[in-house]
Amino acid sequence: MIDVTIIPVLEDNYAYLLLSQDGLTAVVDPGEAGPIIDYLEANALTLDYILNTHHHGDHTAGNAALKKKYGSTVLGPEKERGRIPVLDRGLSEGEVFSFGQEEMKIMETPGHTLGAICFYFPDSHCLFTGDTLFLMGCGRLFEGTPAQMYQSLKKITALPDDVLIYCGHEYTLEATDFCLSIEPDNEALKKRQKDIRVLDQQKKPTVPATLRIEKDTNVFLRAKTLEQFTEYREKRNVF
Ligand code: ZN
Ligand code: FE
Repeated sequence: MIDVTIIPVLEDNYAYLLLSQDGLTAVVDPGEAGPIIDYLEANALTLDYILNTHHHGDHTAGNAALKKKYGSTVLGPEKERGRIPVLDRGLSEGEVFSFGQEEMKIMETPGHTLGAICFYFPDSHCLFTGDTLFLMGCGRLFEGTPAQMYQSLKKITALPDDVLIYCGHEYTLEATDFCLSIEPDNEALKKRQKDIRVLDQQKKPTVPATLRIEKDTNVFLRAKTLEQFTEYREKRNVF
């Protein structure tokens, strides 16, 4: 099993510090280096790997400083080679990377960007989705088509229900309001809004959430057709 620590960075981004049972460390999407270094120093750790879900600066701007300080190996989407700072190894669909004894599987999930990937740890039931899937939301289509994103989300929903979703931003409170505007009578959604409001008041992260609860409440996963998905994505852009 891997141990996951949430490290808030920038305005509303989340980086994640992963610790394997055999003592290896990795950070997912370091949008800045400072908070990651602070955490590593406070816990007397170094950094073996840097994992990037996609090329956007709020997910990669910490790469160079962290690699310089710790000699970390930078892993990211092969399809975004050239756009990921100091990338060492590009990863593609279906590839399995050994993070110590832990398997990490690569899922290509284009839509938000064309090369976006998710990192899946089957034994630990964890999925790092970057800006592809948010809690009760999905990423904006900066590069891909609605059809690409719809297929990418379908790939994610094929994973087991108990998989924990760790996404790239804290957008959940506003996302709840949007989902309720689409499905005002969804009881699971109404209950979840109460839970999210409590977390928000306590200034606590809303991540992670199980894929099960996402399937019950995230309208982008609940869209029955590509047309419906496209309509929701367009409405969300102006919500
Ligand atoms: Zn992004
Ligand atoms: Fe982002």
